[in-house]
Order: sequence, then structure tokens, then C-alpha cells
Amino acid sequence: MTATVIDGKAFAAKVRGKVGEHVARLKADHGITPGLAVVLVGEDPASQVYVRSKGKMTVEVGMNSYEHKLDVNTSEATLLKVIEELNADPDVHGILVQLPLPDHLDSDLVINAIDPAKDVDGFHVSNVGLLGTGQKSMVPCTPLGCLMMLREHHGSISGMNAVVIGRSNIVGKPMAQLLLNDSCTVTIAHSRTKDLQETVKRADIVVAAVGRPEMVTGDWIKEGATVIDVGINRIDAGLKDDGSPKTRLVGDVDYASCAAVAGAITPVPGGVGPMTIACLLANTVTACSRANGLKEPE
Ligand code: NDP
Repeated sequence: MTATVIDGKAFAAKVRGKVGEHVARLKADHGITPGLAVVLVGEDPASQVYVRSKGKMTVEVGMNSYEHKLDVNTSEATLLKVIEELNADPDVHGILVQLPLPDHLDSDLVINAIDPAKDVDGFHVSNVGLLGTGQKSMVPCTPLGCLMMLREHHGSISGMNAVVIGRSNIVGKPMAQLLLNDSCTVTIAHSRTKDLQETVKRADIVVAAVGRPEMVTGDWIKEGATVIDVGINRIDAGLKDDGSPKTRLVGDVDYASCAAVAGAITPVPGGVGPMTIACLLANTVTACSRANGLKEPE
């Protein structure tokens, strides 16, 4: 069997197109421009890349982008003050604090200082609770992107066996919650899981969010299963012509061996990554619509 490739890049472009249309309507009919504020503390290179591309795409769909770049030594009090100001700013509908934060800052404290209505990452404890009880919330972008691809590919995923590998607050746990809300039978696996391979082998849907390059191999996958690869890992790829080291991006899934067994699979790059940013933009428009008592995008 050769798996269908779930093209996250193309799907994300479609989602961004719809976001752009909604933004245009908000402007034309109500004179409102949604605004997304991104706060970056320090100079982590990967975070800088993410923040730059988030800013670029925010502007491309017609929204306002506000970037707050703070020194790596910024105190907790200063960061909390910035968040307080953004919470109070009516032009800002979404606030995202880029993680990870430097060690001296308490991420939980900082995230929970964001107004839950503007928490477009969906990490505030109120949003986590709302999602867990099936109420209207802000849904974390990466798991939301995965769910949208699963729904697009399968239509309904009700009754399917899903295994999520990884139990982080930002990917694994909300992913499992979303799959449960969509009536999957969900197993959450992690580093202490016994017989991981056998557990994964029973899954109709596998979501790998581990942070270990190409860990999941084809012999773990049930014939015809759908494999969603959340991992983003940069690995060595020999040397460039000029002798400098070369790297390449791989997921948590060994693509070639899994694609030979799976029914459908997301590639890395071009799978979950682009959907994450598209969902961030969609969440910002949703937050803006809710803040103004207007119809939300579907
Ligand atoms: P974390 O490091 O926070 O969590 C990793 C999880 O994997 C933990 O629950 C850990 O278990 C589990 N794990 C680690 N090793 C094993 C193992 N050998 N067997 C089974 N489980 C294991 O990572 P994140 O959730 O933040 O991210 C996961 C991956 O997704 C990373 O590659 C990250 O770069 C990527 N990512 C991609 C995004 C995108 O937009 N595409 C967005 C966010 C993340 P335990 O809890 O027991 O330690």
C-alpha cells in the first residue's frame, strides 16, 4: 500500500484564504481589523524564525501584526506588564507568548496572565478547562490543525482507535482531548508506556508528537492507518559543497517505511507545520469576532 499524502501546505493555504475573506468582511462591514500580538523573549533562533513567519502571514491575510521583542534578561514583572497592556488594548484581539521562555520566567504564570478571550494559543488554564468539558474555548493551534486534516481526509473519525504519542500540554494532551471530543477511542502514550509498538499497531489514527527524529517506523503501523507527524527535528545531513555542515528537517515518523504501510500520512515539512500557523490566524479572527459580538468563522 502506498499512502495518500495529506498535503498540509495546500490545506493551510485554503484555510488562510478563508481567514483572509473573513478579515476583509470585518473591515468592509464593521470597520474592524483583527490584530495579533506576538511576544518574544530572547533570541532563540528557531523561535525567531517562527515569530517572523507568523508576523508575515498575519499581514498577508490583512490583519495587524504587533511584535514585542524583549531582551533575554527581561524580568517577570516587565513581561507581565506588557501582557497587561496587550490585554487592555482594544486593537489587539489575539496574544501569543512564544515558548519556550527563558528559565528564569514562569511559563504557567505568564500564560495564565493572558486574557483567556485573547489566548489564541489556547494554553490558558480556563481554555484548557473549557476544552476538557466540551465548551466553547480557544483551541491550541497544532492539535486543531491535526484535527482539521483528519476530518478533511476521513469525514467522520467517530469510533476510530487513536493513539497519541506524547503528553505535552501544548500538543499531546489537547490532541487527545480533541480526538475524544470527536468520539475516537483514545490512548495517550509517553516515555513510560510499555509495549509502545504494540499499542501503536492497534491504532487507526497515529499522532506522533515526541520530539525524537524518525522514531515511529513502518513495522509499528497498522495497514491502512492514518499517520499524523507533528515532530520537527533538525538532523545532520552531511556537508555542503563548501565543507560547512548541512542539516535537514525530519519528523518523529520515519516517512518512507510508514508511507509504505499507512493509508494516509502527513509529510515533514509541509504537513502539520503550515496548518499550525493557519489555525493561529483562524483563532485570531474567531477571537476578534467574539470580542465584537459578531458571527464567528466556521
Ligand atoms: P515535549 O518534549 O514537550 O513532549 C514530548 C512527549 O513525548 C513527552 O510526553 C514524552 O513523554 C514523550 N516521549 C519522549 N520520548 C519518548 C519515547 N521514547 N517513547 C514515547 N514517548 C516519548 O514535546 P512537544 O509536545 O512540545 O513537541 C513534540 C514534537 O512536536 C517536537 O518535535 C516539536 O518540535 C514538535 N512540534 C511541532 C509543532 C508544529 O507546528 N508542527 C508545534 C509544537 C511542537 P514524557 O511525558 O513521559 O516525558
